[in-house]
Amino acid sequence: MSRNKARRFGKKKVMRQNIAKERIKILLAQAETQALAGEMELANRYASLARKIGMRYQVKMPRGFNLKFCRKCLSFLVPGKNARFRMTGGRLTRQCLKCDSYYRLPIGGK
Ligand SMILES: [Zn+2]
Repeated sequence: MSRNKARRFGKKKVMRQNIAKERIKILLAQAETQALAGEMELANRYASLARKIGMRYQVKMPRGFNLKFCRKCLSFLVPGKNARFRMTGGRLTRQCLKCDSYYRLPIGGK
């Protein structure tokens, strides 16, 4: 049998991306748990790990990830702790209190 030769790269890539997506989900959940427990360093580590996996496997991060993660100072953000959230004209604005960077997510539509 020569099924190994017939194996397509595309399919393999999708499979890897699915595994990567699962890992990202788990890491982000762990980051959240650690952040709520006050373990910000661990939370940052989990979140940046999730981001690294996303970049390596070219997986799009879940919607809202950038609200919770500061790309500039690579911190996992917790509202009321190290981040401020505000609604302005159909947009959700997230401010990182550590490095003062902003991220805006358009909200609305349906
Ligand atoms: Zn920041």
